[in-house]
Amino acid sequence: MIRLEFEFAVFLFLLITIFAVLLIWLFWTKIKLPQQKNIQMESIWQCSICTYIYVDSKNQKLSVCPRCGSYNDRKEKGGGP
Ligand SMILES: [Zn+2]
Repeated sequence: MIRLEFEFAVFLFLLITIFAVLLIWLFWTKIKLPQQKNIQMESIWQCSICTYIYVDSKNQKLSVCPRCGSYNDRKEKGGGP
């Protein structure tokens, strides 16, 4: 009886530990993912002249295309085709 209880206690301890780790992992990924997505979306630029897609995390409103050197406005980035 004592052995069975000990095994049950170990099983319960493992179950709680795994559940806690899983919960922390889920919480962590849920918080971390949207931030990464926002940073990536704000950093991605598409040139309005040559349609070159590049990453510029320094500038938020105006960025210089590394390929053709033209200035790109934030409004033009989400523009049409
Ligand atoms: Zn360009």
